[in-house]
Amino acid sequence: MNENSAERPTKAIVDLDHLRFNYTSIKRFIGPEPQVMAIVKADAYGHGANECSKTLQQVGVKHFGVALPEEGVELRKGGIAGRIVCFGNWPGQEQMIIADRLTPVFFQIDRLKAFDESAGAQGIVYPVVIKIDTGMGRVGVPFGSVGEFASEAAKFKNIKIEGLMTHFSTADQPQNNLTDTQIRRFNKAAEIFQAKGVQPKYLDMANSPGAIVFPNSRSSLVRIGGLLYGLGGDVLPKGFPGPELKAVMSLYSKVSFIKRVPAGTTIGYGASFVTKRDSVIGTIPIGYNDGYRRGLSNSSNVLIRGKFAPVIGRVSMDWTTIDLTDIPEVNVGDRVTVIGNDQGHRILAEDIAESLNTISYEVTCGISRRVPRVYVSDQDR
Ligand SMILES: *Cc1c(COP(=O)(O)O)cnc(C)c1O
Repeated sequence: MNENSAERPTKAIVDLDHLRFNYTSIKRFIGPEPQVMAIVKADAYGHGANECSKTLQQVGVKHFGVALPEEGVELRKGGIAGRIVCFGNWPGQEQMIIADRLTPVFFQIDRLKAFDESAGAQGIVYPVVIKIDTGMGRVGVPFGSVGEFASEAAKFKNIKIEGLMTHFSTADQPQNNLTDTQIRRFNKAAEIFQAKGVQPKYLDMANSPGAIVFPNSRSSLVRIGGLLYGLGGDVLPKGFPGPELKAVMSLYSKVSFIKRVPAGTTIGYGASFVTKRDSVIGTIPIGYNDGYRRGLSNSSNVLIRGKFAPVIGRVSMDWTTIDLTDIPEVNVGDRVTVIGNDQGHRILAEDIAESLNTISYEVTCGISRRVPRVYVSDQDR
């Protein structure tokens, strides 16, 4: 596990074999036709965008999706050669986008015009994607304005609209007909563009739940984020058939300190926990600055020697206290599984998310940069 014992033992292990497994499993489930755009924004949901993208490039992924042009620049530096679509971009970033052959997404005609002028100044015709708001209600050309937008956009000479995209808001709910409405509107928007002489090569709608739950949203390209990282548990509907997935990130630490205390001892800030019996208390070097959130105080578990140890007291910035009274065999230096498997038991990012009333994406994105990512793969050994 490439552990350097001179470092704090808190580490995130990113299993690149599981990432490959998930990609293959998703491909098998959705069939050979749709290509997968790997969504690696936000540092691949906290897993490390460069390493994950390189691994996915090795297994044949040719499309990558990021939130910011800056993220795309990092991927190029890391040797990613495929198409990199940036879902957002800001005035003044035109040169950065063009210099690194990133594919920008537009939904405002004035921004598209400014980009057309930048491309024109370099004497090139540059590929762009237009995002349509078919019901997410966040960003995109409003569905009702697609005709007007398409007429204007078709006039620009230095851009080529190579893609149209939309984004689903409720694709994890099979019974909600908003997704069907979004699909219908998107297909209509594509017809409107085609009627103006624009023939986009890529028409993509589906995110992770869309690709699994709504086969008619797959088209030629699907944009998959969470499923690649094995985070299906709370973005796919329960009991619905889906691909087999393996969690890519685990999070480990080690017991730093153990003490015996009598009943009535207060533990941590605010004395929010008071021992009810003579207890064994362990301390582990992980806290909310690592992304092990304060909301987990008195309401989570870790695994040690194959057994659950409850988090007691407040999670603080750098330390978390756990009750080891029922696991007397634990020693200082024992491995603590914060997320991952231990002797047949497991804690998923989804479980931590449930305690925090959020989704697993926020948990893995939130594991801070103070926690080193250690990449493992049998292929390297
Ligand atoms: C984040 C994102 C996705 C991926 O969503 P998942 O649920 O993680 O698959 C797809 N498309 C867009 C536009 C996104 O911003």
